[in-house]
Amino acid sequence: MKIRALPVIFILGMLLTLCTGCGRKTEPEHCDFFCMDTVMQVSVYPKSRNKSDLEAARNALADAEREVFRIDAFLTDAMGSMTGEEKNAMEPDVLRDPEFSALLGRALSISEATDGAFDPTIYPLVGAWGFYSRNYRVPDDEELEALVETIGWEKVHTSPVLPVLDLGGIGKGYAASILKDALKEHGMTSAILSLGGNISLLGSKPDGTNFTVGIQDPEDENRYFATVSVSDTAVVTSGSYERYFEQDNVRYSHIIDPKTGRPVDHSLLSVTVITPDDVLADALSTALFVMGRDGAVEFYRRGIYDFDMILMEKDRSITITEGLESVFNTNGSAPSVIKKAP
Ligand code: AMP
Ligand code: MG
Repeated sequence: MKIRALPVIFILGMLLTLCTGCGRKTEPEHCDFFCMDTVMQVSVYPKSRNKSDLEAARNALADAEREVFRIDAFLTDAMGSMTGEEKNAMEPDVLRDPEFSALLGRALSISEATDGAFDPTIYPLVGAWGFYSRNYRVPDDEELEALVETIGWEKVHTSPVLPVLDLGGIGKGYAASILKDALKEHGMTSAILSLGGNISLLGSKPDGTNFTVGIQDPEDENRYFATVSVSDTAVVTSGSYERYFEQDNVRYSHIIDPKTGRPVDHSLLSVTVITPDDVLADALSTALFVMGRDGAVEFYRRGIYDFDMILMEKDRSITITEGLESVFNTNGSAPSVIKKAP
């Protein structure tokens, strides 16, 4: 069995920083740490290189890092799934925490809007495929059918006991929003966050122009297949390449279709969502990956949420939404552009 976990995010992050930092007089202050099973890199641009501005930026970074470890601890207490430790029940204290309730409320409203493609009750299925313990296995049809019956986001409202949840599809987005809030509280106006596959931008570059963000090639972790030139937004990618195992030449990805209980397997290699709301971007990238290309296009056209997306398929064709037309660049073939009203 071949196992492959998160790729070399460090290198990507460094490439991103190079990509976004070229030719700038103001150099960013960095802070890198490992949290939520991923390397997190935060770069903040101080107002100037004056001692007091540099100190302000460093204090902002230290506080932001503390905040994200706080979030990690409370999500881990609640669910265990962020660190691979499995739980039999949710911790009652955490459930009474207003911050956790608010995050869960958001997760469930996105579950409803995506018709259950995003489903935080997916926990027993992710566990059955071995993604928490890393003892990967292929459950048989009977086991999957039985588990699919036990899940469903509505059960959070209807079950007498709250099911164990997996907020891994939204956790990094939440972490990004928390980090940005902490930076803003310290008066920071320009920063780049790179949290695994999630990029989030606070403001624009210090000179007022857009950041250039590379979109990772799902088939080559050291390359970008495109860039987008954007500010003050999240750029979040989900794909089967992020975490998977292979058995008998079949690749099983960590994103599970709640309707079948099986890892998603269709024409999409990756989905990138671009929208200022970090939590929405994270949950939607997972949900749209479950929906597949046609489902994602239809969902975009329904206009429930305001977002843009980039879809990369196995035949290397690229689809983007109209909001990205003027900011998207690729060396490959021109993308198809989806308009809201066809
Ligand atoms: P992401 O990398 O943001 O797309 O999130 C993927 C993670 O979300 C997986 O590793 C699982 O922990 C969890 N997950 C898998 N399938 C789903 C799903 N259909 N809905 C919500 N979360 C999921
Ligand atoms: Mg996600």
